[in-house]
Amino acid sequence: MLDLPVRLLLIEDNPLHRRLIQQLLTADPQLQCEVEAVERLADGLARLARNDVDLVLLDLVLPDSQELETLLRVRLAAPQVPVVILTSLDDVKLAARAVESGAYDYLVKSNLKSTALSRSIRYTLSRARARGGEWDSPMFRLAQQQFLKAAQYMDLDDNIRQRLLFPQRTQVVSFPFFRDDRSQVETVFGYRVQHVLSMGPTKGGIRYHQDVDLGEVAALAMWMTWKCALMKLPFGGAKGGVRVDPTSLSKRELQRLTRRYTAEIIDIIGPDRDIPAPDMGTDEQVMAWLMDTYSQQVGHAVPAVVTGKPVVLGGSLGRKEATGRGLVYLIKASAEHLGLDLSGASAVVQGFGNVGSYTARFLAEAGVKLVGVSDVSTGLFNPNGLSVDALLAHVAEHRVLAGFPDAEAISNQELLELDCDVLALAALQNQVTVENADRLKCRLLAEGANGPTMLEADDILFERGIFVLPDILGNAGGVTVSYFEWVQGIQNLTWTLEEINARLQTILLDAFHRTLKRAGENHIDMRTAALIEGVSRVTEAKLLRGVFP
Ligand code: NAD
Repeated sequence: MLDLPVRLLLIEDNPLHRRLIQQLLTADPQLQCEVEAVERLADGLARLARNDVDLVLLDLVLPDSQELETLLRVRLAAPQVPVVILTSLDDVKLAARAVESGAYDYLVKSNLKSTALSRSIRYTLSRARARGGEWDSPMFRLAQQQFLKAAQYMDLDDNIRQRLLFPQRTQVVSFPFFRDDRSQVETVFGYRVQHVLSMGPTKGGIRYHQDVDLGEVAALAMWMTWKCALMKLPFGGAKGGVRVDPTSLSKRELQRLTRRYTAEIIDIIGPDRDIPAPDMGTDEQVMAWLMDTYSQQVGHAVPAVVTGKPVVLGGSLGRKEATGRGLVYLIKASAEHLGLDLSGASAVVQGFGNVGSYTARFLAEAGVKLVGVSDVSTGLFNPNGLSVDALLAHVAEHRVLAGFPDAEAISNQELLELDCDVLALAALQNQVTVENADRLKCRLLAEGANGPTMLEADDILFERGIFVLPDILGNAGGVTVSYFEWVQGIQNLTWTLEEINARLQTILLDAFHRTLKRAGENHIDMRTAALIEGVSRVTEAKLLRGVFP
């Protein structure tokens, strides 16, 4: 519920528009608000300094300030106050850019109705409140901004836009587990977020990391929705996570934590409800414990409740290496499109876990020279090439890359800026930013990780002509083979590795060519094109299903 009345500041220089908006605001009895109107930005900023405004309705073109600068000055003066942009028809592009820069919504003045205006205000205020808490994460903001950018390009129905901005179902749990020293009980936070329930069961990995929060999990769930839709898989997006440093846990602690987390979310998962899989900090063994805990609770074995489990428990051949394998299929297709000969080309891979190590291995098999690699412990550089087998052997013995003898140690930041043909990101979010996007020297940026590139950096990469394989396309090999695992599980049959890899390649290349075609036809970047492909499919399904009741 909103605290009433809502205190609105209207910054608008056109007297006709000012009167119209004030009339619309008073026409909705459900929206009790006090409106103060000013004509100039300077007056608006002075008003904001009193610190008692709940929301700003802002015209961007004012006598004393123009375009995005108007928004930036308001945000600087009152970063906590949400802003809704008022725009005229010929300024919609500018308004969309304003949303990318932090405005909550935009409204076109010429055909504005009272219901649309008050809904936008109510929704903005509740989003602003939600952001203040657990949802407030740079990753969730990034996912929402990317979605809004695609929505603007595709002229997405306003009702759908608002419905897709937040996940449909969210479970937050706090639960205990015993440390090996039985006197110590640790309490941690866990999450499971289901973004869209309209497409079939939901699907998405489980992440164990010390920085996990609701916003991060929600962002990952949203990306899963677009990814599954882009691949034409019958799933909505989900994601789970536990805020814990998995490297600080013994194997027994990891097992107890996993079993208790599974018990906490058991009501909302299941082979026809929501199917988890591995993500950062979790692996086949964690999926085996999850499947066992679920099966114990329901009284019989249910392998199809998770994917990415060991083959002997009903896992699929090829799942473990699927994300890296898929990324390399797409790198090959991109290289062909760019006229880049991969044999003898150079690559740098950030991250050397599941995705990074298999990406490095398949790149090496394609004749690519690996000149840089990194993990949480260090970056490594060797212009003459690094041996993937030697790196794997070192990690098997020492757990991390640090101390690898046959290379120069560099920082992760230096690694990103190495001269190379292919830069594959397979670690964390938020790696390519407005600060370093200008200094990247690769021709092809391949995103195995989720959310590694910030929105503003995307624009810079596009202008510089760096070809980007965006995450929802680049790392979709994982969920695609997870889908194969689920299909095999519910039908009790198995496919050969050759069948799996062939089907994987067909699905990925189909999505790649659809995305490339859309990007070319609409003169947009690959990420926005991939998002539009995914969002269009979800929109079609949502419109066909309608609103209950
Ligand atoms: P993982 O836990 O197996 O490996 C993560 C790697 O990143 C490790 O080598 C770790 O040392 C490194 N790392 C962590 N912090 C780092 C830092 N600050 N700087 C540099 N390296 C750092 O995880 P994963 O499953 O390989 O996932 C990696 C990324 O790929 C994540 O963004 C994940 O969401 C995404 N992804 C994974 C899958 C999958 O099937 N596993 C599928 C799709 C997307």
